[in-house]
Amino acid sequence: MKYTLSLLAALSLPLAAQAQRKPAPAASTTTDARAAIREADIKRDLYALAADHYRGREGGTLDELRASAWLAEQARAIGAQPAGDDGTYFQFFEIQRLRLAKSSQLSIGSHQLRVNHDAIVFAPVAANVNAPLVWVGTGTAAELAKVDVKGKAVALQFSGEVPPGLSFRRFQMATMRDRSAELFKAGAVAVAWVGDTRAQAVFEHWGHTYERGRYDLPGGPNLKVAASAPIIWLPASALSWAQQPGQQLLANLQVETFKYPSVNVLATIPGTDAQLKSQYVLFGTHQDHDGVREAVAGDSIYNGADDNATGCSAVLAIMRAFKQKPGRRSALFAFQGAEERGLLGSRYYSAHPLVGEKNIVAVLNAEMMGRNAPDSASLLGRQRPHRNSLDLVTTALAANQRGPQFKLDTLWDRADHPEGWFFRSDNLPYARLGIPALSYTTVLHPDYHTPRDERERINYPKLTKMTLWMYLTGWAVVNRQDPPARDKDFKLER
Ligand SMILES: [Zn+2]
Repeated sequence: MKYTLSLLAALSLPLAAQAQRKPAPAASTTTDARAAIREADIKRDLYALAADHYRGREGGTLDELRASAWLAEQARAIGAQPAGDDGTYFQFFEIQRLRLAKSSQLSIGSHQLRVNHDAIVFAPVAANVNAPLVWVGTGTAAELAKVDVKGKAVALQFSGEVPPGLSFRRFQMATMRDRSAELFKAGAVAVAWVGDTRAQAVFEHWGHTYERGRYDLPGGPNLKVAASAPIIWLPASALSWAQQPGQQLLANLQVETFKYPSVNVLATIPGTDAQLKSQYVLFGTHQDHDGVREAVAGDSIYNGADDNATGCSAVLAIMRAFKQKPGRRSALFAFQGAEERGLLGSRYYSAHPLVGEKNIVAVLNAEMMGRNAPDSASLLGRQRPHRNSLDLVTTALAANQRGPQFKLDTLWDRADHPEGWFFRSDNLPYARLGIPALSYTTVLHPDYHTPRDERERINYPKLTKMTLWMYLTGWAVVNRQDPPARDKDFKLER
C-alpha cells in the first residue's frame, strides 16, 4: 500500500523535480579527507591533554571541567558547530558519590581501626553494631557447629585455593560476599575477615578504592545503601589479635553523599544532503581519567594518556577531516565525561540525546588506541551476541582494508573473554538502545590505570592509523544511502 502511494506521488511530480530528488551518488573513497588526519596534530593534542596540567581529569572535578573547556575550545577553533545545550558545546549533568562517612567508627577490643586504612569495609553501609566477637577459625562446618553466631560478630581467617580461570581478587570478593551472606542468615550481625598474605599487596589499594566510594547518575543502582550488616576485611597482621576471646566489636558506620558536576562536550559538522543531514554518525570517546591518587614510584597523577587522551585526540583529528570535507549525513562528536566512574556521560547522553535517539544511525567509540603491537587492533561489537549490526561491522572491516590494514584480534571481543571489554566503554549505553555501536581499541596493557600510562609511551603512528580507520568507517556511513541495518535478533548477553 505505501509503495503504491509513493509511486503515484513520484509519477505526479514534474520531471525536473524528480531529477533533483534523485540522491547524489555516494562519495567515492578517493574523495575522502584522510590527508587531514595528521600524526603531528594528534600528538600535539595528546601532549596537551595528558599533561600534568590537567591532573588526570577525574570525573566530577575541576580538572575534568578544565580539560572539557579545552576540548570545546579546540572544536571552536576547528570550526565545528556547538551541539550541546542552548547553543553551547556543553551538556552538563550531575554525578553522585556515595561513601562511608569519615566520621564512621570501628573497633575490635582495644584496637581502634581507621576505616578503609586499618580495616576495609565493603560497600557503603549504615550500621550500628555492638556485639561480642567470636572466632571461628577458617569457618569450616565443624568449626561453625561449635558456636551459635546469632547476635554475634564473627571473625574468621580467609583461606582456599583459587579455582582455575578466576583472579585472586574475584575469588576473594566472591568468597567473602557469599560466605558472609550465609553467616548473616544464621544471625551474625557483622563478619570480620582476616585476609591472608596473598591479598596483602593490594590491601592498601583496595582501601583507597573503598574510601573513594561509589559513583552513579543520581538515583542510579550503584547508590543503593546496603542496609545489611557490615563485611570487614582486616590485614593478615590482625591474625595475632583477632582470635583473642572476650572482645567486643563496635561499629558505628554512616554513609555520606555528594553531588558533582560533570559534562559532555558536543560538536557537529552538518551534512550536505538536505534529506540525510538530520541523521548523525556519532564519533564518541571519553575525556576523563583517574585523577590524583596514591603514588606509584613517586608519581601521583594518573594522566591516562592511552586511556583516553588517545580517543580525544583521535576525535579532534576526525573533526578536522569532516570540517575540510563534510559528508552527506552529519557528523556528531561527543567527548563524554565521567566514563571511569561508570560510563556516566554516555549513559546520560544516550538518555538525553540532543539530536534525537532515532537520528543517531551509528556510534563509533574511541577507547585506548595507542599501545601494544604496532600492527594489531581490536573492534568491539564484531561478534555475537553483542554485535548489533553486521552491516556496520562489514563497513568497518572494509575501512580497515582501505586504510590501515591492521591484523584484527578477535579474542577481546568474545562474549566469554574474562575482561568483558565490550561492556566497559561508552559504546555500551548506545548498544543497549539498539543503536549500531562499535569500539575501536588497542586493548589493555600493564600501565592501564597506573601513573605509567604516560604520553611518552604512546605509539603515535599506530594511533594515527586507528584514527584513520575510525574516520574511514564513519566516512562510508555518512555517505551511503541507507543507515546501517540493525541485526534483528540482537540481545545483549548481560
Ligand atoms: Zn577508558
